[in-house]
Amino acid sequence: MKLYSTNNTTLRADFATAVFQALPKDRGLYMLVDIPQLPLSFWEALPNLSLAEIGVAITKNLLGDSLPEDRIEALVEAAIDFPAPLVPLRRSERDGSNQYILELFHGPSLAFKDFGARFMAGVMDELLAAKGERLIILVATSGDTGGAVAAGFHGSDFIDVIILYPKGAVSDIQEAQLTTLGGNVSALRVDGTFDDCQAMVKQAFVDEGLRACVNISSANSINISRLIPQSFYYVDAYKQWLAAGEKGDPVFCVPSGNFGNLTAGLLAERMGLPVHKFIAATNANDTVTRYANSGTYAPKASVRTISNAMDVGAPSNFARMEDLFGSTWNTFKESVYAVSFDDKETERQMANCFTETKTEKGGYVLCPHTAVGLLALDKYQAEVEDVPGIVLGTAHPGKFLPDVERVLACKLELPEALETVRHLPREMKDIGYDYDALKAHVLNVWADRQGE
Ligand SMILES: *Cc1c(COP(=O)(O)O)cnc(C)c1O
Repeated sequence: MKLYSTNNTTLRADFATAVFQALPKDRGLYMLVDIPQLPLSFWEALPNLSLAEIGVAITKNLLGDSLPEDRIEALVEAAIDFPAPLVPLRRSERDGSNQYILELFHGPSLAFKDFGARFMAGVMDELLAAKGERLIILVATSGDTGGAVAAGFHGSDFIDVIILYPKGAVSDIQEAQLTTLGGNVSALRVDGTFDDCQAMVKQAFVDEGLRACVNISSANSINISRLIPQSFYYVDAYKQWLAAGEKGDPVFCVPSGNFGNLTAGLLAERMGLPVHKFIAATNANDTVTRYANSGTYAPKASVRTISNAMDVGAPSNFARMEDLFGSTWNTFKESVYAVSFDDKETERQMANCFTETKTEKGGYVLCPHTAVGLLALDKYQAEVEDVPGIVLGTAHPGKFLPDVERVLACKLELPEALETVRHLPREMKDIGYDYDALKAHVLNVWADRQGE
């Protein structure tokens, strides 16, 4: 597998370089030189393939000989050991088209980011073991990335994880997931927004002094190895869509922040997945929606919302989408319908959906992010065309318990994994908004590890 930088398509890197460097030196993003189509035999076999088998086929298709085939099988099977069910939810208001939720929250941190984090951890462990090297992963999180990365890498023999998160801007349970693992995982609390955290991580990557002494890498959605496994569940969803008796090509509605998830859908489409339309659903952080409406890309500082994992004012994967669409606004608009909603609309949707789907066992509980997605599908079906569609259910509602219980005006039961983690002792270090404090912590972790 060969990659180039979105800023310079003549710059080439191999898979291992792109995985460990995360960001090319010219500050573009790594993108695949070739996105080969999956062979016809794969699509014929699809109805009988498991999610992990789909993952193995896609990984082999993309990676080529960047990893031995038997290692690919082992690492995908270990990473993708939880399901992604397609659940029928309700029918659209106009013509009664089906609406489905693709539940991506059955992994250890209960958010879709488990797919990327677990696959990436497996890939890195594999490559480091072969080289006999160590590594520190730096990750900025607006909530869910950190939890997934912490869980994905916890216990690795080759990797330490340092998580930066914005003070007061992640939920109680998210903070618990970031700060209770210990061992090779440490958490830094930043006085600032997610964008500030991300800026500090980016600064570390261009700090030649730091990089001369420490082997660092990123686990944000900018890392190409996070993107690849996120394409698996689009294909698995299509398998389930056909099994449910749907005839047309699916609409995929993606609650989006950094746009890694949607970019992975575009990758799946390039590999041959039939897609009718992508819907980019965003909260008040509407940079991509404004782009879709005006043709002008004007990133802004992020604002806080109840769907906080999507509070991104300058989505880092925009460069990859531009690259895929050849920088033309028209191609983007043809393929992606973008729309934004505020917190009030999001809360109303959570409440409405809960009531409308109510049975003796209770109604369907949406997390705030998935609710933004369902709003977008509703709008598309009401105003553009009433065809069936799939909303990517990006997190378990229990991760946002206080907001969800307030909006639904009832008590919810937490999944056991969340209930346990909530009561564990937390450990984090406050670093204000100070790059030098981050640097000192990185150097300390590295020195501690070398001394072992
Ligand atoms: C990260 C996240 C998103 C946004 O995904 P991107 O790939 O950054 O667009 C949406 N919902 C939840 C719950 C998330 O954790």
